[in-house]
Amino acid sequence: MITTQRASAYIETEERLGAHNYRPLDVVISHGEGVWLYDVEGRRYLDCISAYSAVNQGHRHPRIVAALLEQAQRVTLTSRAMRNDRFAPFLEKLTSVCRQEMALPVNTGVEAVETAIKLARRWGYRVKGIPAGQARIVVARNNFHGRTTTVIGFSSEPKYRADFGPFTPNFDHVAYGEIEALRAAVGPQTCAVMLEPVQGEGGVVVPPEGYLRAVRQLCSERNVLFLADEIQTGFGRTGDLFACDHEGVTPDILIVGKALGGGLYPVSAALASREIMSLFGPGDHGSTFGGNPLACAVGEAALDVVVEERLAERARGAGERLSEGLRRAGGSRVREVRGRGLLIGVELGTPARPLADALLARGVLAKDTHGTVLRIAPPLVIEDTEIEFLSTVFGEALAAL
Ligand SMILES: *Cc1c(COP(=O)(O)O)cnc(C)c1O
Repeated sequence: MITTQRASAYIETEERLGAHNYRPLDVVISHGEGVWLYDVEGRRYLDCISAYSAVNQGHRHPRIVAALLEQAQRVTLTSRAMRNDRFAPFLEKLTSVCRQEMALPVNTGVEAVETAIKLARRWGYRVKGIPAGQARIVVARNNFHGRTTTVIGFSSEPKYRADFGPFTPNFDHVAYGEIEALRAAVGPQTCAVMLEPVQGEGGVVVPPEGYLRAVRQLCSERNVLFLADEIQTGFGRTGDLFACDHEGVTPDILIVGKALGGGLYPVSAALASREIMSLFGPGDHGSTFGGNPLACAVGEAALDVVVEERLAERARGAGERLSEGLRRAGGSRVREVRGRGLLIGVELGTPARPLADALLARGVLAKDTHGTVLRIAPPLVIEDTEIEFLSTVFGEALAAL
């Protein structure tokens, strides 16, 4: 048993007993509140990772914690073999916030992606009339949609795929943000186009203005479903409730996760029209934990916080101020500060990990993504004084490299 307060004891045990499938920052967190995390040695850090946008509402948001605790005293897991009194209210709120007719809740993001893939293929066969077993899905290069064997099968990142094959066939790749490439890739057997409206793990890649609208139009013209993976971009992160809202676009299947769990619990969902969602019948698809009462209570509170605390609007203003602050502090040492809302990528042109370590030493948690990009994505409840602190520390860390 670990009895010390020293981080090294935790790290040594973790490295010995845990699979080495991550390379975490060398900090051992013991508690958190709002935008702040505290380590076992008592140091404080501004969290600019936000569990990859799962903590949009801030750590331990009191309202979400209260919902979890209250539900934990009643009933937490029933399975969908029966109905529970939290499921219907959650569905009402979820479909209303997401502006879709029906929802299928699961747990992690990739399960919602898998749900959307199944649904799109079934639509391809039963509605579009694609010959059995031939449905194709177009995806973007540099995508990230999760880690199941099907989903990594259409990743373009060699590291995610190496020696994990064989992979599911019939995914076609196009360059992200290029509408003509997409037009050429959509054929008679295409049932869906699946995209992130801003690529997150791919290095915070914002598509050219008008791209999402053009994708929507192309999909409608060619009788293909548009699947938007808003797992990372959804619920206010990019300054709109959903990143697709930036261009006034509604996907046929909306995939959400991460912040739907309010930073407390995994909650995800695929949402669609009644026509599309009705292609699932009893027993066709499911999840033991999906839609459980605890998840529903947490999800409902997480949605309430996003809406009532106007997190999208706040992310928009804070994002502008933070991007400006980072640009000013970075000066000529950074190539580009890009992104939307509070999903910000700092392109360095050199490996970003040393900068992440320099920030860590100064009380900021941020992580490199895609090698040369530092992703800055704090909880959406960040205040102006914290934005100033972050910009200052960013400049100091860069200067110290
Ligand atoms: C994180 C993420 C996923 C996968 O979610 P998990 O909960 O890790 O399975 C899928 N798509 C996008 C865009 C993501 O950012």
